[in-house]
Amino acid sequence: MSEDVLNKVFEIIEKSEDNIVELCQDLIRFPTVNPPGNDYKACVEYIGDRLKVRGFKVEYIRAFGTPGDSSEFPRYNVVARYDTGRPGPCVHFNSHIDVVETGEGWTKAPFAADLIDGKIYGRGACDMKGGMASSIIAVEALIDSGIELKGAIEISGTGDEESGGLGGVAYLAEKGYFSKDRVDHVIIPEPLNVDRVCLGHRGVWWAEIETHGRIAHGSMPFLGDCAVRHMGAVVANFEDKLYPAMAARYTAMPVVPEGAKQSTLNINSIHGGQAEGNEGLPAPCVPDSCRMIIDRRFLVEEELEEVKSEVVNILSSLEKSREGFSFDIRDMLEVIPSMTDSNSPVVKATVAAIEDVLGITPELICSPGTYDQKHIDRIGNLKDCIAYGPGILELAHQPDEYVVVEDMINSAKVMASSTYKLLSQ
Ligand SMILES: [Zn+2]
Repeated sequence: MSEDVLNKVFEIIEKSEDNIVELCQDLIRFPTVNPPGNDYKACVEYIGDRLKVRGFKVEYIRAFGTPGDSSEFPRYNVVARYDTGRPGPCVHFNSHIDVVETGEGWTKAPFAADLIDGKIYGRGACDMKGGMASSIIAVEALIDSGIELKGAIEISGTGDEESGGLGGVAYLAEKGYFSKDRVDHVIIPEPLNVDRVCLGHRGVWWAEIETHGRIAHGSMPFLGDCAVRHMGAVVANFEDKLYPAMAARYTAMPVVPEGAKQSTLNINSIHGGQAEGNEGLPAPCVPDSCRMIIDRRFLVEEELEEVKSEVVNILSSLEKSREGFSFDIRDMLEVIPSMTDSNSPVVKATVAAIEDVLGITPELICSPGTYDQKHIDRIGNLKDCIAYGPGILELAHQPDEYVVVEDMINSAKVMASSTYKLLSQ
C-alpha cells in the first residue's frame, strides 16, 4: 500500500527535474565562501522565502558573537518547520550553506552553475547545495502529493560547517533547535554518494607543540640551544613509537576509505627560528622556539585522554632523556567520534528507501573527517542522525566540483521515502 502512495510522490519528483536544476543553480550562485562567510543572509532568505510558500514557519537566526560574526559577515541561519497538524515525530534535514574557497584549476566558472551533460558545475554543487536541493524537492513533493503524514518536517540551512560549525549547527543546538523536544530524526545531505548511508565520523584532536631553546649567534650555535633540533627529536620519536602504535589499531567503524580505518596523524605544520618573508636578509640566530601543529584523527575505540597522553608521554620521556629539552602543548580542537546505531530508526528507514528506489542494499559507512553530526550528537544529544546525499565524496572541495542531476532526483526519492516511513507509522 505504501508503494502506491509513494508512486505519486516519485512521479512528482521525476517531473521536477527542471525545478531541482534551477533550485541547485540558484543556491550555487550565492557565493557563500567561508571564510569569510560571504552572502549568508541572501542565501538563507532565498531558502526561507521558498519554503514559506509551502506553509513552513520560517525563522532566521543570527549567531551573534560567534567566530567571524560581524556586520559585514553576519552568521545567518534559517530553520523552517512544517507542521502536519497531526501529532508525531519530526524529521529534520540539515544542510550547510557555506562553501570552501574556489582554489585554482577550474575550467568552469565556479559560481555560474553551468548545466552540462546532466551535471551542474560549481563550488558547492557537490558539497552540499545539490544535497540541499534534493531535500527541499523531496519535502515539497511529499506536501504536494497530499499524502497523509504525522508530526513535522524541518529544513535548516546553516553556516560555518567548513570552519567547525560554531556559528551554525553548534549555535542552533545550544539554543534548543536540535533537541529531543522538537526533533527526532536528522538527515544531513552531505556528499557521501547516493547509494551509501553514513553513520558518523572519527574523532579529532588538534594541538600545538612547542619546543624551547636558547638564542645565540648562528656562528656559535654551541653557545645556544636549537629548538628546531629538539623538534626533530620529537618527529623522530613519533616515527619510532607513535606511528607504529597507531598503525596497529583498526576500528570496527566502517570508515571509508580503507586507510582511514586506522588512527592517523598529520603533521600539519612546523615552524621554528627566523620568520619567513624576510626578503633574503639573514639573521644569524639559533632558534629559541619551534612550533608544530598536529592533526590526530582517532577511532571510536580510543579515548581522547589516552590519545593525548600517548603524545604527552613521548614529550615527557624526551624531557628526561634529552639534555635541554622542554616543551609546552596547547589543545586547539577536540571532537569526539560519533556513530549512530545501525538499527536506529533513521538508518533503517533510509536503508529500506535506498533498496526501494535504487534496488540495491546500501553500504553503511563512516566519514574519515567530521561534519555537523558532532554538534547534533554532543550538544543536542540527538542520536538518530545520519548523513545521506547525492554528491560524490571525492569531488568535495575539488576544482570543477559537480553534482549529477540524476543522483539528485534519486536521492530526493530516497529522502521522500525515508521521511514517509518515519512519519507514517
Ligand atoms: Zn560539507
